[in-house]
This record gives sequence, structure tokens and C-alpha cells, in this order.
Amino acid sequence: MQHKITKSPKKSPVTKSINFDLFKCGRNVLPDLSDSVDEKQWGHDPLPSEAQLYLLFDKLNNTFFNGSLPWVKIIYSTRMLNAGSFSPGTKGIKIGVKYHKIFPSDLEDTLKHEMIHIIDRSHGKLFKSIAKRIGASLRAKSHPDLIKPAKYIYACPICGIIYNRRKRMRKASCGTCSKGGKYDPDCKLMLLKKRD
Ligand SMILES: [Zn+2]
Ligand SMILES: [Zn+2]
Repeated sequence: MQHKITKSPKKSPVTKSINFDLFKCGRNVLPDLSDSVDEKQWGHDPLPSEAQLYLLFDKLNNTFFNGSLPWVKIIYSTRMLNAGSFSPGTKGIKIGVKYHKIFPSDLEDTLKHEMIHIIDRSHGKLFKSIAKRIGASLRAKSHPDLIKPAKYIYACPICGIIYNRRKRMRKASCGTCSKGGKYDPDCKLMLLKKRD
């Protein structure tokens, strides 16, 4: 299982295969809310309302975090292709509508994942240990409908292989031609085209 939220760490001296990684106050909890939240209530379509997302948040917070997570805003994003995101600045969780129309049963998993980001923004050790404990995925799934078109097209000056990328790469060399699996200036990828 994959989750799709991270900023990939900037450590890619050599281009690897496409990484779809792109894949975050106290809230008083009313009694018995957990009983009123059950994914069977909404089935798979339409997605639960934002109000139901808050109930689900409370349920998960109580079940897995002892109710200790602070209140955060939860909204749907119709534009986002990721499963979810957490922005520490705005203390907001976004849930991707497109993703969950394809993978509706992943909604709770996504919310769990984003809730862990309230504690750990990265996907580091702490994140992983909590994810394991509460059964949350580390990465979102990929699907052809969730892939943004490449904006940058690069080519290797040696073998000519084309790399389509959504993000600009400043220092990247060809995965096939680089010597020693490290950044190799001899086959630094050339930017051929930038699409608007
Ligand atoms: Zn994440
Ligand atoms: Zn090459």
C-alpha cells in the first residue's frame, strides 16, 4: 500500500523510476459519537459529508490517540490528486475527492495517515511506528487518473532516454548512464521542454 503525500526528500542524485510520491486546541468529544460513525452509513458513494469527516476524526482520535490530537480543520479538495494532505501552517487536513472516488474504502486510512502528520510531519521513524500501531498506510495507491501530466521533459545527453517529470530537477543525471549510482555530471539531464 502506498500513500502519496510526502515531499520527496531532495536526495535524488540519480533519477529513479517515477515516484508518485508527490505521494497537516483541544476538541471536546461528545459522548457516544463513535457509535454514530460507521462507514457503512455512507457506503462508497457519495463520500461522507465534511461533518461526518469530523465525526470520523473524533472516533479515530479517541480510538487511536486517546483523544489527544488537537482540533484541525478538515476539508475536501476537488482539485487535489493526492489522497490527502496535512498543512501544519493552517492546521488543516485536506481529503482528495478524486482519489477517494477511485478508492472510496481508503478514506479512513487516509484520514488516519493525515492525523499522524499532526504529530510527525515527515514519514520518519515516529510516523512509521504510529502508522504501524494504528494500521495506517504509509503511501497512497497510484492510479492512471491520478497522475498529473509531466511539465518538464528531460533527456539524457548520452543515451537519449526521455524523462517526464512534474517537477523541475536541478541536478539529476540519467539513471541508466550514471556511474556508480551517483550523480554523474557527464550525463546530467538536459531540459528539452517545459509545458505550461
Ligand atoms: Zn504522509
Ligand atoms: Zn542515459
